[in-house]
Amino acid sequence: MAKEVVVIGGGIIGLCTAYFLHKEGHKVTVIDKADITFGASFVNAGYLTPSHIVPLAAPGMISNGLKHMFNSASPFYMKPRFDQDFLKWAWYFKKSSTKAKVQKAMPLIKDINLLSRDLFEAMAASGELGHFHLERKGLLMLYQTEKAGAYEQQVAERARNMGLPVKHLHPSEIKKIEPHISINALGAFHYLCDRHTTPPQFMSRLLKYLSDQGITIRKAEEVTDLEASDKKINKVITNKAMYVADDIVFAAGSWSAVLSQKLSIKLPLQAGKGYRIDVQNSTGITMPAILMEAKMAVTPMQGFTRFAGTMEFSGINHTIRKDRVQAIAKGAARYYEGLQIQKEAIDGAKCGLRPVSPDGLPYIGRSTKYKNLIFATGHAMMGWSLGPATGKLVSELVSDKKTAMDVTAFHPERKF
Ligand SMILES: Cc1cc2nc3c(=O)[nH]c(=O)nc-3n(C[C@H](O)[C@H](O)[C@H](O)COP(=O)(O)OP(=O)(O)OC[C@H]3O[C@@H](n4cnc5c(N)ncnc54)[C@H](O)[C@@H]3O)c2cc1C
Repeated sequence: MAKEVVVIGGGIIGLCTAYFLHKEGHKVTVIDKADITFGASFVNAGYLTPSHIVPLAAPGMISNGLKHMFNSASPFYMKPRFDQDFLKWAWYFKKSSTKAKVQKAMPLIKDINLLSRDLFEAMAASGELGHFHLERKGLLMLYQTEKAGAYEQQVAERARNMGLPVKHLHPSEIKKIEPHISINALGAFHYLCDRHTTPPQFMSRLLKYLSDQGITIRKAEEVTDLEASDKKINKVITNKAMYVADDIVFAAGSWSAVLSQKLSIKLPLQAGKGYRIDVQNSTGITMPAILMEAKMAVTPMQGFTRFAGTMEFSGINHTIRKDRVQAIAKGAARYYEGLQIQKEAIDGAKCGLRPVSPDGLPYIGRSTKYKNLIFATGHAMMGWSLGPATGKLVSELVSDKKTAMDVTAFHPERKF
């Protein structure tokens, strides 16, 4: 049965949800408080990462965070604050950072990533969005120290055991696949399963496709309240209008917890800020790479090279910390010999907020408190990769169909 669905949020998750809901024959309205041209879904590194099987909440991360707490240029930063929601989230994060929990999360992360990557491929093959940038070169994990190499060796072994193809490369082999620029690294692990894209291009193509299909997209309209009774949301209220729908999807990224509070739901979620620097002049970089010690990403996108990084927990704000942006530029220069990142590129840096759940798994599922509410958020560092899979799973939940994979572990009311 065709339903009327309101999707709150027009980032990658909201737009992919609209895409798959439309395919299922539902009538969709997407509402976004902004103009859908900036934020996490535009500034990200564009990786589709089945390789990222280890969640952020892993052993050692809390002590790492504490170590860097007062370093304004570190790639991982938790601003000390006595905010109850943050403290609770940090406690859940700590509880999730055990070997056993990571072990349990890894196959789920791999499965949803592979599902999503295949859906990206299907979207490309369908030609519906026109041609969009999707490259199949895999991802390099470049390391400069034996310690980082040994760590990645273990991750690579686990990935291989889970059926993901990974090759180890010596410097001469790195040179062969990245011939136009000299890389200062002891070696690399090459995850052949990964892909990369150009996010602003994909977002604008998807937005245009959805509009052409007659999906209502309300920009610059903020959901300010929700009215509910008898375990059902009756009205979605914005600063401009009021909507009634059969199902409502919360895909509001880092703001999903704020939205949930309007229904007295406590969703453990924190914003993890990251930055990007786009370099328009030719860099010679053709392979996407993670610079392990610098904890940053480099992506050759269509028309420019993107340098992205930092995970900064300092609440919901878009303040650009220049020292962190500088650290990204300096980090890149330590790996790529002769790389020039112009001042104007650094000055033009932008940031976005990753919606981070405490255990590294997204929130995808129907609320038990409000029967017409579905959550689609909390994807942290993998929201770009997981857009299509999330959209598909949500569309199946709306249609009361068997989901393409088991979503029990992603339930928004799970215990930590
Ligand atoms: C630097 C950086 C690099 C990254 N690299 C990668 C990567 O390589 N691969 C990967 O998979 N992921 C990556 N990510 C993560 C990924 O970008 C995010 O997880 C993803 O974009 C989140 O998408 P979203 O749709 O949930 O949220 P958003 O893109 O933040 O969208 C949420 C939308 O909701 C709207 N909204 C909020 N509240 C309301 C309201 N009340 N009413 C109406 N609208 C509202 C907002 O305006 C916003 O447009 C990266 C992130 C960053 C910052």
